[in-house]
Amino acid sequence: MQHMKEIGGPLDPECDCYTCRNYTRAYIRHLIKANEILGVRLLSIHNINFLTKLMEKVRIEIENDNLLEFRKEFYKKYGYTKE
Ligand SMILES: [Zn+2]
Repeated sequence: MQHMKEIGGPLDPECDCYTCRNYTRAYIRHLIKANEILGVRLLSIHNINFLTKLMEKVRIEIENDNLLEFRKEFYKKYGYTKE
């Protein structure tokens, strides 16, 4: 059996946050299942980073008058099909 650190890869391969650079999805899952507070701390770091980056992109797309196209691509990427 593979060691826990070797399984899975990061939570989000495209993310550069502390959590995604240092912990695997499997290890974070283990922390959450074991009710270890580090699990929710690591997820919070990722989530705040994700939202901050998303808002940066939204501001750029608004300036470029491309928000609707960006929204369509975002929904497609994250599996949200309802328009
Ligand atoms: Zn991340």
